[in-house]
Amino acid sequence: MDDATLRFEITRLGECHVPSPMRGVRFVGDDERVLYHARLEDLGPWLQAHAEPPAMEVAGPRERLLFDPSSIACGIVTCGGLCPGLNDVIRAIVLSLRYHYGVTRIHGFRYGYEGLVHRHGHAPLDLTPEAVARINELGGTVLGSSRGPQDPAEMVRTLKDLGIGILFTIGGDGTLRGAHAIVEEAGRQGLSLGVIGVPKTIDNDISFTQRTFGFATAVTEARWATYAANAEAEAARNGIGLVKLMGRDSGFIAAHTVLVNSQVNFCLIPEVRFSLERLLGDLSARLQHRGHAVILVAEGAGQDLVAPTGGKDASGNAKYGDIGLFLRDAISDHFRRTGTEISLKYIDPSYMIRSQPASPVDSAFCLLLGQHAVHAGMSGRTDMVVSFWNHEFTHVPIPLAVSARKKVDPLGALWSSVLASTGQARDLW
Ligand code: ATP
Ligand code: MG
Repeated sequence: MDDATLRFEITRLGECHVPSPMRGVRFVGDDERVLYHARLEDLGPWLQAHAEPPAMEVAGPRERLLFDPSSIACGIVTCGGLCPGLNDVIRAIVLSLRYHYGVTRIHGFRYGYEGLVHRHGHAPLDLTPEAVARINELGGTVLGSSRGPQDPAEMVRTLKDLGIGILFTIGGDGTLRGAHAIVEEAGRQGLSLGVIGVPKTIDNDISFTQRTFGFATAVTEARWATYAANAEAEAARNGIGLVKLMGRDSGFIAAHTVLVNSQVNFCLIPEVRFSLERLLGDLSARLQHRGHAVILVAEGAGQDLVAPTGGKDASGNAKYGDIGLFLRDAISDHFRRTGTEISLKYIDPSYMIRSQPASPVDSAFCLLLGQHAVHAGMSGRTDMVVSFWNHEFTHVPIPLAVSARKKVDPLGALWSSVLASTGQARDLW
């Protein structure tokens, strides 16, 4: 992205006059910043121009709050697909609101944005520390989730009726666009409502955050599928293990799963085009030399090869063709035609991975994300997400966070390491 368009200013609802009840912490100053560029060669032009380089606001507790903890009510909502750690983030927000600030009225909206629309009839849950005890040990989301558009005016009416001061939205790019629509509607109505997002993307494809929760768990769990694929492939003559993983537009999960061990021979991701002819040719050569092969394909890879479904989900996201099933059939057909007997095992662990509880590393990350979301909300910030950048938690405006997707760079270090690990040709096109 062009640096000139980088706008990291965070919207605030007003002046903060309420002293924070937190004790024994280092309060973060409102002028503390983390540089966007960590590399000197990127920063250099800014320093030469004496211009202020792009930088993100540092997250953390503020000494003065906008909201009075004794009177504020807060809401939490989870939307979109499942991702390990959703319950950890819910729990972290509840515990921080209650024990850092003393907030007692916390509503858990049911089934995504549906829960914010009165006529759907989903009464909110009363989220107390007792209600969220040990939910972090469970996969899924105790609040439920949904897709599909809801009217911002109706959602804001519900929030107004319940006296909500801060809404915490945990979800992906769609959820964040919905959150921004709520911010705009609240602004039109002159309502002092803070909306704070915790970005949820198992694919780790949201921009301006170097890490998202659930990604580490996904890679941790995905490795079992590659172990199984490899064991099956090695146990058979001309054995082929084919694994499909998450990754609609970005292949980070597949790429990192390759780096976990070196059993994968072909990694196929959305960012790198491949032709069926080249893949089948190199696969045949691999079988001739080694007698077995493991292929890892991200769900969004090779969409130019599969028949477009033309379908959309309830939220309007395009439904992708199934590249896993396509490759399974294409590989089987190819070797049948050439008279080569193979044994192909196809594994699609996606729903098993999405519904896992978070790994310890992700759980700790979720706890910190939730706490920083609460600190940001209590200090009157709005229309922002909590991000992780250059080893610090930061604030990023929602419009910037959803402005572009993060992708694997086919010429970058990650993809080079993947190619070195698989041994596949750089160009399969
Ligand atoms: P996932 O990564 O799992 O797809 P997501 O948050 O992107 O998560 P969506 O189903 O796309 O999931 O969106 C979640 C919610 O946000 C849905 O209720 C959807 O209608 C709403 N939403 C999506 N885009 C917008 C938008 N532009 N304006 C308002 N609401 C939106
Ligand atoms: Mg999405």
